[in-house]
Amino acid sequence: MKITPICANLFARLLARFWKGRDAQRGIAAEIAQRRKTRVIVVPELNVLGMRPLGMTMGENIFIPEGSENDALMLAHELVHIEEQWRKYGDAFALLYLFELLRAGLRDGWGRAYLGNKFEREAYAKQNEYLKQLS
Ligand SMILES: [Zn+2]
Repeated sequence: MKITPICANLFARLLARFWKGRDAQRGIAAEIAQRRKTRVIVVPELNVLGMRPLGMTMGENIFIPEGSENDALMLAHELVHIEEQWRKYGDAFALLYLFELLRAGLRDGWGRAYLGNKFEREAYAKQNEYLKQLS
């Protein structure tokens, strides 16, 4: 069963405006947007609380910095977050992800909170499988 993350999708629209994003027009990013019912939003720079992730999902939207429209592995990774996580848990995924990040941070130390997070581990574990589907 698929759940649409309605609030996260709305929040992504606000973020897209705030970050001066535009829909990806070229590369693998544009293809994914068409074929996977997602929005890929290109922003001048991706700055999340002072960090510079390669990409980020919010609901069924992928935010990427300008120039990374053909970073297939990163896009595959973000697609796992959408198809296996956001569409499985809906809006609740935002809380689940934060909770898991907190849990991993308390358990393994804050430097490892990101990679210790089970949702990131799942995305890294499945990204190559998704990458094959993209090519
Ligand atoms: Zn990730």
